[in-house]
This record gives sequence, structure tokens and C-alpha cells, in this order.
Amino acid sequence: MVMSLIIQKYGGSSVATTDHIRRVAMGVASSRVKGNKVAVVVSAMGGQTDQLLNLAAEITNHPPGREQDALVATGEQVCAALMAITLESLGHRAKSLMGLQLPLITDNVHTRARITEMQTENIEQVLNDDIIPVVAGFQGITEDGSISTLGRGGSDTTAVALAASLNADCCEIYSDVDGVYTADPNICPKARHIKKISYQEMLELAGLGAKVLHSRSVELAQKYQVPLVVKSSFGGERQTWIVNEEEVMENSVIKGVTLEKNVSKISLIRVPDRPGIAYQILSPLADAAINVDMIIQNASIEGYTDFTFTIPTSDLAKAKGLVEIVAAEIGAQEMLAANNIVKISAVGIGIKTNPGVAARMFRSLSSENINIEMISTSEYRISCVIEEKYGELAVRAVHKAFELDNIKQEEKEV
Ligand code: ASP
Ligand code: MG
Repeated sequence: MVMSLIIQKYGGSSVATTDHIRRVAMGVASSRVKGNKVAVVVSAMGGQTDQLLNLAAEITNHPPGREQDALVATGEQVCAALMAITLESLGHRAKSLMGLQLPLITDNVHTRARITEMQTENIEQVLNDDIIPVVAGFQGITEDGSISTLGRGGSDTTAVALAASLNADCCEIYSDVDGVYTADPNICPKARHIKKISYQEMLELAGLGAKVLHSRSVELAQKYQVPLVVKSSFGGERQTWIVNEEEVMENSVIKGVTLEKNVSKISLIRVPDRPGIAYQILSPLADAAINVDMIIQNASIEGYTDFTFTIPTSDLAKAKGLVEIVAAEIGAQEMLAANNIVKISAVGIGIKTNPGVAARMFRSLSSENINIEMISTSEYRISCVIEEKYGELAVRAVHKAFELDNIKQEEKEV
């Protein structure tokens, strides 16, 4: 019998209590009974990471990154140990492995470190001894021996990196949702479940705040060609496969519609229009690791122009401080900031081959009398910034315009 190696990652909601952990452990055991080798990766028990961060926030708003990582990494440590204890109590041999025991080595950008090396000798030994490894997700160790973490939601990335390094047959991501939908069903009741989506489309959706997968995990899965599947740990047959573009049947131009709320904009009014201005405005933001997303520079009139860009709302205060300084230096008339905006995006591999997709999106927004403030497009995505109060209406309108609506009462999949 050919044994497959499966990496199973369980998110916080799937391991929220010891009862949940027991149920997951039984699932792990039954995958093994089917003749597979299984390595488990766990997140912290649901809500635990937030609780730990709140403890630090009771002391200071700016804990040192190294210590914040040491703090939050305990969430995964607790869960991995409890999972191993549970598996053992059910009669299976199991062994917890922390990031530093693998070891999973990262750079030293604390709180959002990137993996530089995944060593597999130890976990391979455990697998060869027919013991179930239970890996603490999200955490690693830097070259100089400090505990690091991979950014919120980073356990997915641990799982995919392990799957890639161990050349696993598949990486299963279990959470409280049974996959990816054409829109957030809470906003758009006619959203449909998606059976197969390409890495590229998934990457766009994850980057736009669809919380199903950590972006970096999708990037790694594509790079190392790891078959990735999203399932619910609460049962049900539905699942979403994330696969290569060629394997996705191209049945619709647009795969999904997303709404991103964490968006703010800053405008500089009457900026002298001369070479180097954009660089002067944006480079302090780049230095502060603030992600500038959309940028608009108006046509210049009598040597002056307006310059507007969007950033995550969480960085607004910091960005305002930095841009204020530049505004004075370059003699801008005024700086305006607003956070009552949202970004709505249509995502799909059909965009690059179907002219007219953008027009169709704009038409659906205009038919609802929604004004578009900013636009950006890429091969796989068209995004519009609009007023916040129209966000959910816009999602439904665009979802319908691209014929994604589930019109039959029975549930339909794409
Ligand atoms: N526990 C971490 C978080 O809540 C990592 C994860 O769940 O993937 O962000
Ligand atoms: Mg998660």
C-alpha cells in the first residue's frame, strides 16, 4: 500500500475547547486508519492570541516585538501540547513540536517574520517512528535564538511550508468555514460556494481580506505546488481546492467579489507638480513599512496637482504624521484624510482575457448611483474605492452583474 503524507492544520475555532480538541484528535486518528501518515499543525485555541495581546496592552501600547512574539507563541504551545495529550489519551502515540524544536527558522522581523529555512530531520524522525507530530503553528526561531511569529493567521503558512518541505501529498486547512465563497454570505445571501479556485485568485482574495487563508501560505503553496484544500472541521462534504489555473474550469469571468473595510485615504491638495514629488511623499511611508495601495495624481493645472493615496486604516495616524511633515516641506496647500471609504474588488482569472469586465463593474455601480472615487486594476482584479455606506450594496450589485448570484433556492456551487 502506498502511504500518503497529509498535513492537517486546525484553526483556532476548531480547537477552541478541550472538547473541540478531542473531536479533532478523533478525526486525525481516523485519517491514519485510512492508511495515511498525518502531521498536525495547530493554531492557538480560539481567542487565545487576542487575549494574550490584550494582556500586553494592559501594560503598554508598544511592547517590544521580541517579547510580544515570546508572549503570543505560548498560545500555540498550549494547544500543541493539549492535542498531543489528547491523542495519547485516545491510545495514539503523539509528540508536540514547537517552532524552535523543528526548527523553523525565520528572519528577525518580529511579529511578521518570514520563514528562511524549514528543517525537517526531527519531524521526519517522529513520522518514521510512527508517532503523530503535532506542530505549533505560527511560531519560529530567529538565527540569534529569539522566538518569532509569522503574522496573524500565520499557522496556515507553517502548515504549507511543512507540506512543501516534507513533499506531502496534500495540505488540509480546517476551520469553521467549509471553503471559499463568491462573496461573504453575511453581506450577500446569494453567494455561492466555490469548489476549485486558482492560487492566483485565492491570493488576490486573501490579500483583500477574505480571512480564509493567510496570503503567504497561498504564495508558498503556489511556488512549491502544494495541493491545498480548505475544509470545515465541523463536518460536511463541501470543500474548496486551491489549484493551478489550468485545473480550474473557466465557467465565469469573475470568481468572487470582496469588500475591504480597513481602508483610508490621504490627499495632498495643490502640490507643486515637479519631478520627485511622488517619491518625496511616499518614501517616508515605505520606510515606515506602511503599505500604500492605490495612488491617484490629478492632471496638473498651472503647475499644481492633487495627490491622493490609500493606506490601511490601522496605519492612518502614523501616516498622517509622516505626510504632514512632507506637506510642509514641499509647500502643499492642505492635507485631507478620510476613513469613511471601502474598497470593493472583483477577482477572477478571466479578467485578463475578457475586455469589458471593468466597464461591466462600473455600470453596475453606476446603476445603483454609487460614485467611484478611485480605481485600480491588475491581471486578476479590478478594485474601486467608494463611500463606506454603499459598500454592502455594491457587493450585491457587482455579484449580480457578473451572474454569480445563486438564483435557484437550492444551494449551488461553482
Ligand atoms: N494564533 C495566531 C492568530 O490568531 C495564528 C493563527 O491562528 O494562525 O493569529
Ligand atoms: Mg487562523
